[in-house]
Amino acid sequence: MSSNPASFLAGTLLRQEVLDLHAYHVPDSSGYIKLDAMENPYLVPPALRAEIAEAVASAAINRYPDPGAAPLKEKIRAAISLPHGMELLLGNGSDELIQLLALALNKPGATLLSVEPSFVMYRMIAIFTGMRYVGVPLLSNSGVSNSGTPNSRAGDFSLDLPATLEAIRREQPALVFLAYPNNPTGNLFPAEAVAQVIEASPGLVVLDEAYYAFASDSFIPHLANYPNLLVMRTFSKLGMAGLRLGFLAGSAAWLGQLEKLRLPYNVGVLPQVVAGKLLAHHEILLQQAQQIKHDREKLYRQLHEIAGVQVYPSEANFLLFRVANATAVFNGLKQRGVLIKNLHGGHPMLQNCLRVTVGTPEENERFVHALQESLHNE
Ligand code: PMP
Repeated sequence: MSSNPASFLAGTLLRQEVLDLHAYHVPDSSGYIKLDAMENPYLVPPALRAEIAEAVASAAINRYPDPGAAPLKEKIRAAISLPHGMELLLGNGSDELIQLLALALNKPGATLLSVEPSFVMYRMIAIFTGMRYVGVPLLSNSGVSNSGTPNSRAGDFSLDLPATLEAIRREQPALVFLAYPNNPTGNLFPAEAVAQVIEASPGLVVLDEAYYAFASDSFIPHLANYPNLLVMRTFSKLGMAGLRLGFLAGSAAWLGQLEKLRLPYNVGVLPQVVAGKLLAHHEILLQQAQQIKHDREKLYRQLHEIAGVQVYPSEANFLLFRVANATAVFNGLKQRGVLIKNLHGGHPMLQNCLRVTVGTPEENERFVHALQESLHNE
């Protein structure tokens, strides 16, 4: 028995699933070149920052926020060219929306299905909302699916379509999450395969387009074709990670119901004001994303040329790569002032894998240099 009465009580009263969870780990990044969290490295130009400062100065922070956030929704609608007849539901980041969806669809025994490796919050949220979780492995290097079926489209971390369709048939998931592009692998699954997953699913399919600004495709234009599809996005990767703003896009039939679970003031006054100003200048953010895409290609080529590094293609603002000893390289980079993400140990398929966010050209150069030194001194 614990000697601390509070620990004892917590250990007795909390659900076992909660006690067994490991908290989402966010390392202290102060003083590092921060390439660990898929943030946009750029601020907006000073004139726009001044405009934002003025809007913030006169914001009614003594009042609760506008619960409907209609003006902000209008700006989002225009920025993403939301098809006519489709609606939006705003979240305090998209993490909150994953939780809201799990709460809404969690009938007794309901299953949440995703692929693995993918965004860890799908599994974590399934567990802490008490949903059954099923993860279908992506394809590994061997070109043979983990279910043993040879697959002609096999490639690293590509979607194992036969195994995924079979799991959907077997598990009848109430909720399917597919990250499009996927995190942490960076690849965009083929649209035809994703369409087959949506069509085969008896439940709701949520395409998580967190990295849409860096990708070549989206399902937003196809929302009306599928009665069981919602698209989720976040503005975190587009330069607003600090604001916490995500949204679901889809039909009113779904969003009207889900809206009942949204806590009334989940998006604060300041995020509404600031995101509104930024989205009024959406072209600046898109230009930054273009720059990041361009720099991603350069960084990919640089990593590709380094002996001992296997880098994977990406349609996101990060690159996944494999080395002989990820932890040694991660520590070597840290000693040289560069913080990236060590994925080793997170999932068996990510053995010796690291993930680096595309930073400014200067940050990327410093990263490449520090990586070469770390590999050399391993
Ligand atoms: N989905 C994916 C695929 C992500 O990678 C992330 C952030 N890493 C999120 C959702 C959550 O983003 P946020 O809560 O910042 O909107």
